[in-house]
Amino acid sequence: MPLVADDVIDQAVRLLRDGRLVAFPTETVYGLGADATNSQAIRAIFAAKGRPATNPLIVHIAGIEQARRYARQWPEAAQKLAQAFWPGPLTIVLPRTDAIVPEVSAGLDTVGLRCPRHPLALELLRRFDGPVAAPSANRSNRVSPTTAQHVRDELGDRVDLILDGGACDVGIESTVITLCGEVPTILRPGDIGPEDLAPIIGEVRVMSQVLSEKVASFSPGQHRVHYSPVTPCYRFSDWQDAEEYLREHVGKSVIVLALSRVTPPSAGHHVVAMPTDPDAYARHLYAALRSADARKPSAILIESPADAAQWLAVRDRLGRAARPLSHRPA
Ligand code: AMP
Ligand code: MG
Repeated sequence: MPLVADDVIDQAVRLLRDGRLVAFPTETVYGLGADATNSQAIRAIFAAKGRPATNPLIVHIAGIEQARRYARQWPEAAQKLAQAFWPGPLTIVLPRTDAIVPEVSAGLDTVGLRCPRHPLALELLRRFDGPVAAPSANRSNRVSPTTAQHVRDELGDRVDLILDGGACDVGIESTVITLCGEVPTILRPGDIGPEDLAPIIGEVRVMSQVLSEKVASFSPGQHRVHYSPVTPCYRFSDWQDAEEYLREHVGKSVIVLALSRVTPPSAGHHVVAMPTDPDAYARHLYAALRSADARKPSAILIESPADAAQWLAVRDRLGRAARPLSHRPA
């Protein structure tokens, strides 16, 4: 169980009740938590992150019974999904009750609900016995934290308490599915894919923006880079493109996060071998981006994994972190 003493969990609960901010581990990434019924506490999350108020927060609860307190409707599909995947990395978007303050949902009439499976998170939520809004515990648009140290590096004393539950197991943010439309639709891919969801609830769509490479092929100025290191990041599928870039940047420090090659092409260029298994890749991705960033190279190149179903979530995050190499500024 937790790496944290029992009375520290009680202290976290008291802080949440007082409208303060508590960072806690989940199986996906570390969250920055606050009481979802307290507008002032929620505004403190947005302030600590520098997050635009238009981006809704996920509300964490201890289980189905709690979730039903905050969802105005609980359709059969919600029951089936929660039974199959909670506690776990699935966020279900449903109409919200008024108990959840509007700031949480960026003014929307809906709320994203999730029951995390990290034992420390679950224990905190059980004892708090209320809804905890928690985005990832990083500054807005930066890489999500997967260790307590990452949270300290990102937020320092902007957070009142950090619970250390070790390194996150999944490593990328939860799958978000909305049940508010005609057909259940994945808004953000994650560890739980459409192939896992469809057998439980039938047809599942993936928001087209996620699937299409259009996200990737926006012109550089338009491309919305999120979850991104400070260093310019470029992704590539073809090593010939990477080699050409490296030839043009001899003597510059460049780090390549590679899948299929390990030898550095030339001096100053450093190749980091990434896991070739999608789950292991996801688990290591953000730590790899952070440590590459910390070495302050002139650029980070990332070899894209195959355009295959099991890589959907990783490709989505790489699409947000890195521009296509072919679209780099001249
Ligand atoms: P984060 O808190 O940064 O892990 O991500 C929260 C994300 O969950 C948002 O950026 C949305 O993509 C999604 N989300 C949360 N709540 C809602 C909601 N009510 N409706 C639609 N999407 C949501
Ligand atoms: Mg985030």
